[in-house]
Amino acid sequence: MKRILADRTDLIDASGIRKVFALGATLKDPINFSIGQPDFDVPEQLKDEAIKAIKAGQNKYSQTAGDELLKEKIAERVSNEFGWSNPAILVTSGVSGGLLLAFMTLINPGDEVIIPDPYFVMYKHLINLLGGKCVFVDSYPTFQLPLEEISKAVTAKTKLIIVNSPCNPTGLVYSKQQMKALAEIAAEKDILILTDEIYEKFCYDGDCASIVNYYDKTLLLRGFSKAYAMAGWRLGYAAAGEPLRDIIEQMTKIQQYTFVCAPTPFQKAAIAALDYETSDLVDAYRKKRDLIYEGLKNKFELVKPGGAFYAFVKAPAGGAATEFVEKAIAKGVLIIPGNVFSEKDTHFRISYATSNEKIEQGIEILRGLA
Ligand code: PMP
Repeated sequence: MKRILADRTDLIDASGIRKVFALGATLKDPINFSIGQPDFDVPEQLKDEAIKAIKAGQNKYSQTAGDELLKEKIAERVSNEFGWSNPAILVTSGVSGGLLLAFMTLINPGDEVIIPDPYFVMYKHLINLLGGKCVFVDSYPTFQLPLEEISKAVTAKTKLIIVNSPCNPTGLVYSKQQMKALAEIAAEKDILILTDEIYEKFCYDGDCASIVNYYDKTLLLRGFSKAYAMAGWRLGYAAAGEPLRDIIEQMTKIQQYTFVCAPTPFQKAAIAALDYETSDLVDAYRKKRDLIYEGLKNKFELVKPGGAFYAFVKAPAGGAATEFVEKAIAKGVLIIPGNVFSEKDTHFRISYATSNEKIEQGIEILRGLA
């Protein structure tokens, strides 16, 4: 087989999250703190929009860059938010699609990408696949942006700095001051920033700052998977202002020969999603955040998450996090070892996107293991 497979298949391994997910499938009624998608379904109104589009025959390819109306609506939204005039927009197959296209557009073999550690696992594997080099910058134990270390990590080969706020797996939201400081570092060294804002709506303690406000060489990626529970519909977008227009154009060119377009009928539903009110959902998720944090804080070391639906918790002293995770799974609580998202094996990730009842049961069991 080795003779048949391309060498690049050796550069990546299967997602550790999927492994826990598979383990969970063998357990009866586990408490599933493992998976990164919301516990609610797509709102009825948005399902109706998708069904309407399918029935109306909107099932062909869309333009490569996306449905005109959806692009206009996204452009209007980001222009209002960031003061961009005439932004470049590409509708992607999820933020994952946007990440692949962005990396394919930007990364030459040997190029370095600075990534705060812990990080969303896809960055590492896609960059490795393309022959790029991940430069991880440790953000333990506070998980704030490690500004000084980022600045020190810059070399002549640095192509990109990745920012993900609210962050998967830590739930951290970086402050305006931190974003401004990072923008200054990037501007001084003339480096691009890619901001992954897939959790922008899941923001619990006031507004979440976007680095787009402070740095015009920022490529923005956002998605529909989380806030509208459409993960299976595969929708997201990439957007940029004038200085990065060429990047969006090159990404669009690669989309032509890879994804072709994002799923057409769901793009129609996404137009309605952009007007859909999500504040009730955010209130419900804030309560879940509070439950988890209050339930664990006096038994475990954890930073209060300000967004997304994750908590990144230190495993009790005296063992690697992977061992603690095995103990938790044996008791029916599915959590993910931190080394899936990190070069360290000291923490575990909880996804609290589940019912409050399950959250309370899970807290009880984890406390018993502490
Ligand atoms: N970025 C982050 C930080 C994520 O957590 C995820 C999903 N877990 C994605 C991107 C990809 O999401 P999608 O492709 O469904 O838009």
